[in-house]
Amino acid sequence: MIQTIITYSCPKCGSPDLVKNGRDYKGDQKYHCKTCEGCGTLNARRGHAEPTRQQVKRALLERVSLRAIERL
Ligand SMILES: [Zn+2]
Repeated sequence: MIQTIITYSCPKCGSPDLVKNGRDYKGDQKYHCKTCEGCGTLNARRGHAEPTRQQVKRALLERVSLRAIERL
């Protein structure tokens, strides 16, 4: 058995007084902070990694079609 205990704190005020508040459209856990009344997503996913972005920019300069870049 592998057990992992992760303690989250509010990214806005740092308070550990969080409750679960549903899921966002990507299925990630959302939170509600009882201290600052803030809401948000824990570990929000933002865009693609920088190496992937650089690869796409280089392919665009080579005039590779968007469909071909998508296959890469
Ligand atoms: Zn907070």
